[in-house]
Amino acid sequence: VAALVRSITPVSLRDPHTGGTNYRDAGPKIPAAAVSLEDAMSMARLSATGEHVRVKLNMEAQMLPDANSADVMGEIRGREKPDEVVVLGGHIDSWDIGQGAQDDGAGIMAAMEAVVLMKQLNIRPRRTVRVVFWTNEENGAAGGKAYRDWLGADVNKHVAAIEMDEGAERPIGFDFGGTEGPGRGPSVSESAFRRAVEIGKLLEGINAAAITRGGGGTDINPLTLAGVPSFGLRTVGLHYFDWHHSNADTFDKVDPHDFRLNIAALAALSYTLAEMPERIGDLK
Ligand SMILES: [Zn+2]
Repeated sequence: VAALVRSITPVSLRDPHTGGTNYRDAGPKIPAAAVSLEDAMSMARLSATGEHVRVKLNMEAQMLPDANSADVMGEIRGREKPDEVVVLGGHIDSWDIGQGAQDDGAGIMAAMEAVVLMKQLNIRPRRTVRVVFWTNEENGAAGGKAYRDWLGADVNKHVAAIEMDEGAERPIGFDFGGTEGPGRGPSVSESAFRRAVEIGKLLEGINAAAITRGGGGTDINPLTLAGVPSFGLRTVGLHYFDWHHSNADTFDKVDPHDFRLNIAALAALSYTLAEMPERIGDLK
């Protein structure tokens, strides 16, 4: 017995998209595989005509024991409040197919370049700006959890967390604020949200000023749950789900101009959060 899933993608060039498989503790652990949209549609048409569809599967994937991996970090220490941290990043792992260029190579490189910009401009913000490449986002998010555990009580010194994991298409802004509920962090105050909207206006020049309510991202979710105000970079998202988790997620899909706009958005937001006199989460 195996489960076949229609690839989770709006557009397909007969290229199956991979992804995680989760089992309930009690249920049987049957193998699962994704088929391309075209093949799924073909099977649906055949079975609609009463044809008995048979599929031969050759599958090599196996579950191996956990092994050591590492989050990669770098930072510019704050000039006045080095213990207070604005963290930004994405995930360093990717699926085995494709190159993981959009998911999430572009995210981690844009975060690093945002901090490189500060370095080149000789800017040392009031607080520490830290870049993290979290590991294992695609296969359990252990890197994000380990980062939060490593912080311990110091998580309270995290002023904000910013994640980029929707690819490097043209940015439109950030979601911010969280939504209370299972798996979500506490909502930020109205005045913190209004301040975020003001910060967003710095990005009007590149049409990336939209601040909308939402949650952040998988890697920073353990921080969000601990009450750290969390931002997720949002893009036009026209093609991300065409490419991601497939053989098509290659470097040629990253438009250099759009990529630079993402760097600008991350740099402006992280710098402002690290430099402004008050912590955004303290605004009542
Ligand atoms: Zn990702």
